[in-house]
Amino acid sequence: MIYYPEKYSIRDQRMKPFIDPDEIWNFIKNTPSDKQRVHEVIQASLDKKRLSLEETAVLINATDPELVEEIKEGARTLKEKVYGERIVLFAPLYVGDLCTNNCQYCGFRSENKGVKRLTLSRDQLIQETTALIDQGHKRLILVYGEHPKYSADFIAETVNIVYKVKHDNGEIRRVNINAAPFDIQGFRTIKDAGIGTFQIFQETYHEPTYAKVHLGGVKRNYDWRLTSLDRAQEAGIDDVGIGALFGLYDWRFEVMSLVRHVNHFEAVYNVGPHTISFPRIQNAMSLNIQKNHLVSDEEFVRLVSILRLAVPYTGMILTAREPKHIRDQVLRFGVSQIDGGTNLELGGYSKGPAKDDQDLSMEQFQINDNRSLNEIMDELIKTGYIPSFCTACYRLGRTGEHFMEFSVPGFIKRFCSPNALLTLAEYLEDYAPAETKENGYKLIHQKIDELAEHQKVEQLREKVEQVKGGKRDLYF
Ligand code: SAM
Ligand code: SF4
Repeated sequence: MIYYPEKYSIRDQRMKPFIDPDEIWNFIKNTPSDKQRVHEVIQASLDKKRLSLEETAVLINATDPELVEEIKEGARTLKEKVYGERIVLFAPLYVGDLCTNNCQYCGFRSENKGVKRLTLSRDQLIQETTALIDQGHKRLILVYGEHPKYSADFIAETVNIVYKVKHDNGEIRRVNINAAPFDIQGFRTIKDAGIGTFQIFQETYHEPTYAKVHLGGVKRNYDWRLTSLDRAQEAGIDDVGIGALFGLYDWRFEVMSLVRHVNHFEAVYNVGPHTISFPRIQNAMSLNIQKNHLVSDEEFVRLVSILRLAVPYTGMILTAREPKHIRDQVLRFGVSQIDGGTNLELGGYSKGPAKDDQDLSMEQFQINDNRSLNEIMDELIKTGYIPSFCTACYRLGRTGEHFMEFSVPGFIKRFCSPNALLTLAEYLEDYAPAETKENGYKLIHQKIDELAEHQKVEQLREKVEQVKGGKRDLYF
């Protein structure tokens, strides 16, 4: 399974495997990295160039603590320069844990007989969605095991149900999906339901490791999964999310492969993936993996910084798998989206706040940050971040918003920041306790003043007043 760029035309590369392990190892083993090269590469990224595999290897091979700090500093500067202080919030909603696959890292795998299997009924899905709306959420990611019951029609139907739920002033405005790969027709059916991003993680791009941890079911087929988001693109879903599950194989290989995956999309479809996820393996019921590639906190922060610099216009997602102190660090180094108020128990949101002692027979894996959405909002506001529930681009048909944020001068200040502030105002009006509300409005007024050069701030102030007066869903 080798990728020969010189032999295939771009058209031929569609839906073809594109990872060449020799090529990747060659870059890792033979790319020199010194101070000057690291500076040049960081500068290239700050000049808004997506890094090549060779340049990414320069950063990976920089192990001197001083250079590692410079890489982190570069990532921080890039994040501040390009994305500003906005952090987009979402919640995962598990729709069903039936699964015919046997992934050795996952609590839902078919051989785990102790897992309570459940697929939310229509009413349960409505209840869960209502509970999430009542927390203040506007964006969900629906998550499914891989099972014949979770067909494309089933997924489309669940998306439709979620979009129809309205409660008080709230509603879900963007539904993303994390589910098994489909064929082109299946992806079309799901696209027609009006989804946002379709996420599929390769888990590991290293084929022999992939074979060792995927012991049953359709997911055993490495190529079917590797080319899945190509099929999504062919079906018209140009908003896709890639990811690797860190801890299965050497993190350096996975980072290089993620960058290779991005290159592939850019070369073939002219658009990179919308988001990258980099979950680290967490404890799960009967977790059964070798522990020699687990990623330390230090390596994790490093790899997030390298990814930020390597693919500067891709959204980066961090989930409640990571504890607060790691979240706080990587928010500075590049993460643009986090979940809040997460509860992985099927049907768990409508039962109230997540418990400290998770029952792993009901959940895919352990989470390490079970703060409520409001606790997270509070913290973000106090730290000066602008929490955002904005879904404007998606609803105006402006797909590839991260790319636009990155490449269209002034886009963030004209659209993203004002829209983030308007969605924050909605949250403060509808869901926030008094203290959060007070701090939130202080932040809004301060940020509006800072936007004065770039945005018609009077219009923005007026819209904030309209939100206070009861209007909802206002955006630029
Ligand atoms: N069943 C679909 C699939 O496998 O693509 C849906 C996604 S699965 C429910 C979501 C993701 O959770 C997986 O792609 C995997 O990366 C991650 N995951 C599974 N087990 C995990 C664990 N023990 N710790 C952290 N993440 C895990
Ligand atoms: Fe099933 Fe996905 Fe878990 Fe694998 S990771 S066992 S496919 S739910």
